[in-house]
Amino acid sequence: MNLVDPALSARTQDALTREGTPVACPSCAAAQTQLFYKVENVPTNSCILFATREEALGCLRGEVALHFCSDCGFIFNASFDQFLTEYSGRYEETQGFSPTFSRFHRNLAAELIERHGLRGREVMEIGCGKGEFLVLLSQLGENTGVGVDPGALPERLEGVEGAERVTLIPEYFRPDHCASEPDFLCCKMTLEHIPDTASFISTIRAGLTEDKGTVVFFQVPETYRILEHCAFEDIYHEHCSYFTETSLRRLFEDCDFAVSRTAIEYDDQYLTIEATASGKQEGDDGSSLADLAQLVASFPERVAAHKAHWRDRVKAAAAEGKSVVLWGSGSKAVSFLTSLDLDEEVTCVTDINPNRHGHFMPGTGHPIVAPEELAEIKPGLIVIMNRIYKDEIEDYVSSLGISCEVTFL
Ligand SMILES: [Zn+2]
Repeated sequence: MNLVDPALSARTQDALTREGTPVACPSCAAAQTQLFYKVENVPTNSCILFATREEALGCLRGEVALHFCSDCGFIFNASFDQFLTEYSGRYEETQGFSPTFSRFHRNLAAELIERHGLRGREVMEIGCGKGEFLVLLSQLGENTGVGVDPGALPERLEGVEGAERVTLIPEYFRPDHCASEPDFLCCKMTLEHIPDTASFISTIRAGLTEDKGTVVFFQVPETYRILEHCAFEDIYHEHCSYFTETSLRRLFEDCDFAVSRTAIEYDDQYLTIEATASGKQEGDDGSSLADLAQLVASFPERVAAHKAHWRDRVKAAAAEGKSVVLWGSGSKAVSFLTSLDLDEEVTCVTDINPNRHGHFMPGTGHPIVAPEELAEIKPGLIVIMNRIYKDEIEDYVSSLGISCEVTFL
């Protein structure tokens, strides 16, 4: 465990969440932001695998206190405490076991190779996880890849086609990792874990020159959808930074990048941006901030009703004697269980990632079982944590000979 002095982390948290104290925006440096959503006592590492129920129940806990910056639209968890987070080999985030996700990932790699002529080039990924995307870029474009991630497990890539051109560095990113400027630098599903967003993007920019023309590609969760659909399951401690297109573009432009493209993908769940190092500063359009401010203002009331709906739904099924099973044991399930304060109303959580089986959910201690075990558990209600996998999961459920109500968030 790479934990730091708990006294220090407690102090950080206290300073950040004192109500009434102005909290500045880490993205645009505006002096004041507004608190609009709070959840206490949440696990701080929702992707960590726990070997025993006791360990899972005793996990580190923290707080979510979402603030909105009306200057740039950035949303962030002001109670985020990096001393309570752990990104090690125990961090199991891969979605590569899902055919839907693998298809998306492969298409994304192919598109980027096509759009930016990435063949036989040098590519780099910050926050590369277990390195699957770098391997795809290597396989599909014969590119040479370097990946930096404290949770990287280089041994998992042994013998994988294309992995011979990929080097994984199991460390936190430092500017010197970027010393030989790559042709393409990507950073997927990582920026949302970084509290000092402006300082991080500026650090990357400092390692790049205008002449080299490195293309930078970032992918983050899209937050307009979260606010609009009250997707409380997508709000958790280690996601400290929440972007919409406006705030992401503004951050990159403020850090001297020229933005060439933004897009919303994967059933509106992912927001991507492509940019190159530039000396010139773009103007701020400030267009969709009024819409966003309205969504933020109505969020507390709407999300409370939405949470009550799901809590009642699960409790009613359990009261009828049904076994309730959640499908997908990642962060969404951790947030679902802890935000709704669910305990024995849920029997277990299942997942197609075999690395997760036999482990326990952080915070609530629910067991994670293989889908094959459901034949014996005989669920009465399955709740799918991510609707994009609905078809894939429904097919899997029927192939197991299980007929029960299947619903999704
Ligand atoms: Zn701001």
